[in-house]
Amino acid sequence: MIGTVPMYDAIGYLEKDLLEITAQDFLKVVRAHAEEGVDFMTIHAGINRRAVEAFMRDKRKMNIVSRGGSLLFAWMMMTDNENPFYEYYDEVLDILREYDVTISLGDALRPGCIDDATDAGQISELIELGALAERAWAKDVQVMIEGPGHMAMNEIAANMRLQKRICHNAPFYVLGPLVTDIAPGYDHITSAIGGAIAAANGADFLCYVTPAEHLRLPDANDVKEGIMASKIAAHAADIAKGIPNARDIDNKMAEARHALDWEEMFKICIDPEKARAYYESTPVSERHTCSMCGKMCAVRTTNMILNGEKVEFCSEK
Ligand code: SF4
Repeated sequence: MIGTVPMYDAIGYLEKDLLEITAQDFLKVVRAHAEEGVDFMTIHAGINRRAVEAFMRDKRKMNIVSRGGSLLFAWMMMTDNENPFYEYYDEVLDILREYDVTISLGDALRPGCIDDATDAGQISELIELGALAERAWAKDVQVMIEGPGHMAMNEIAANMRLQKRICHNAPFYVLGPLVTDIAPGYDHITSAIGGAIAAANGADFLCYVTPAEHLRLPDANDVKEGIMASKIAAHAADIAKGIPNARDIDNKMAEARHALDWEEMFKICIDPEKARAYYESTPVSERHTCSMCGKMCAVRTTNMILNGEKVEFCSEK
C-alpha cells in the first residue's frame, strides 16, 4: 500500500459506529497505518470549524463529495467537536514523523460540480491547509496538498497559482479537475483535460480518474483507461512547461510517421498494444499506409513528390 486514507478505514478498523469513535481512536488508526509502512496518508485536517462555517454560509449545489470529508463533517456535527485531525494535529504529525510518512492534506471541501468551484468553502479550507503545511514542515514532515475536484477550464490556472501562493509552494495533488459534469462514462477524458491544464500551470501530481467515475467501482480495464488518460495529460503538460527532453519522444514519433515506419510507431507510442490492435483490425489495401486514407495517404504522396517520383492513383497496381 502506497497511500491510505485513515478516515475511510476508521469504522472498519475500530469496529465502532461513527458516533462512538473518539478523537483518540482516530489517532490509533493513523498509528496503525504508519506501522504498516504506508508512504503517505491523506488526512482531512483542513475542514475545521472555520471552514465548515464558510461552507454552510455559502450554499452549494453538491455540498461535500469527499468521502473522508463527509464522514468527518458528520462526526463534527453529531458530536459538536472540532475536527480531531485538526485539534490533535501535532500528535498526528509526531506519528507521521516517527514513521517517515508524508501527509497528504485532503480537500474535504473540494467542489463536486463546476458550479461549486472556487467558492468560500473551498478557499477557506485551502487557507487552513496552507497553515497546516507550514506546521508539518516545522516538525520535519513532508507535505502535499490535495486539490479539486470539478472546475471549469477557465478557473484552473488561477486556482493553481492561488494554491501555490497560499500553501507556500507545497506540491499540489489534483483530483481531476473534471472540466464538465455531463460526461459520466467519459470522466477519464474530462479529468485529463483539467489535469493537463492544472499540470501545465503548476500541479505536481495527477490523480487518475477512470471512465467508471460516478458510476461504479472501476474494473482493471477502467483503471488502464484512466491511467493512460492521466499519463497523456501529464506528458502534454510536460511539453507545455518546456521540461527538458519532454518532447524528444514526440519528435521521434513524427520521424517514424514521416517514414511510415509502423513498427517504430508502435515501439514509441504510449499504448503499443492498443495502437497495433487498431492498425491491424482493418486490413490495409496499400502497403505502408493505413486504412484511414489508403492510397491517398498524404504522407506517402508528399514523400513521393519530394523524392522526385510521380503520383498516379489509377494506373497503380
Ligand atoms: S493513410 Fe492517412 S492516416 Fe494513415 S498514415 Fe497515411 S496520412 Fe496518416
